[in-house]
Amino acid sequence: LLTLAIESSCDETSAAVLRGGRTILSNIISTQIPVHQKFGGVVPEIASRKHIVNIMPVIDECLQKAGVKLADIDQVAVTYGPGLVGALLVGVSAAKSLAFSLGVPLIGVNHLEGHIFANFLSTPDLEPPFMALVVSGGHTALVDVRGYNHFHMMGQTRDDAAGEAFDKIARVMGLPYPGGPRIDALAKEGNPLAIDFPQALNEKGNYEFSFSGLKSAVLNYINSEKMKGHELNKPDIAASFQRSVIEVLVAKAFQAVEEAGRDTLVLAGGVAANSGLEARLREEAAKRGVRFLYPSKILCTDNAAMIGCRGYYQSLSGRFSDLYLNAVPGLGLEDKEE
Ligand code: ATP
Ligand code: MG
Ligand code: FE
Repeated sequence: LLTLAIESSCDETSAAVLRGGRTILSNIISTQIPVHQKFGGVVPEIASRKHIVNIMPVIDECLQKAGVKLADIDQVAVTYGPGLVGALLVGVSAAKSLAFSLGVPLIGVNHLEGHIFANFLSTPDLEPPFMALVVSGGHTALVDVRGYNHFHMMGQTRDDAAGEAFDKIARVMGLPYPGGPRIDALAKEGNPLAIDFPQALNEKGNYEFSFSGLKSAVLNYINSEKMKGHELNKPDIAASFQRSVIEVLVAKAFQAVEEAGRDTLVLAGGVAANSGLEARLREEAAKRGVRFLYPSKILCTDNAAMIGCRGYYQSLSGRFSDLYLNAVPGLGLEDKEE
């Protein structure tokens, strides 16, 4: 069974072909990062236009690389949310047109569930149940994955996402977009204990996150250093900020693993590429005898292969979409049992 998958929720135009649920025949990702860099962040209108220009060439390239023809495709999976409405609409429209013209089923996929499912591609023997820590550009959540189509939300962020905080702080420090990888690199040269930033909601039994207080604390620190005429120690700021984020994520993730009685923890979303986070989770998992998994770098950030994987497992439970499928920019993660 061949699934063609399309992803265009933010600033990556991507298309993939999967055989079954876990074999990637091709996964083409055209990133717009250089286009948005001069604005310090993603400009929605520009993103939509770029998706329109890129979508058909990316789909063509992905079919070619997979060595298949459009007529070979059995179903089309597409991200319908969350994301930028104009950006999502480009992928959704392309997917609907293709599904209609080929006469094959359409599968609308939740992008965040896709991030979690990236782990099935990286780890072929992974099976539910397991705990998933989702840390992406716009979301932070702990999800108990009880089955391929059975999710239980342990908790999510009340305000900012972890990735959002990384990007905002990088911006204030004058680092180019996207800030996450820059902070990651700087943090390696800094002292994580140099500055004592808050670790919000870090209490037992609480699975909600909050990163807006931490973001303000770092911004206030930077401003007060500037007012005092001090030179900013960027590596120390990056390392100390990153430590605050990581310690909260690690503590809550393993509490959730314990409470749900899981033996496996998976990491998902763009921030999963953070080397400090990965190292701390790995260390803590080893101590506790928990299996710890995270997707390969290319599967951490936005890509269509993860959408194809999620779409495949959705199709097994007969969850198809009709041609009225619309973009849902504010789509979130929620409990699901099918
Ligand atoms: P969402 O998936 O919530 O809709 P998104 O698709 O925009 O948001 P992601 O796919 O999760 O975002 O990936 C982008 C985010 O990952 C950005 O916030 C970026 O800064 C962050 N990121 C990427 N690499 C790293 C890293 N090494 N360390 C920290 N953050 C990182
Ligand atoms: Mg992106
Ligand atoms: Fe994403």
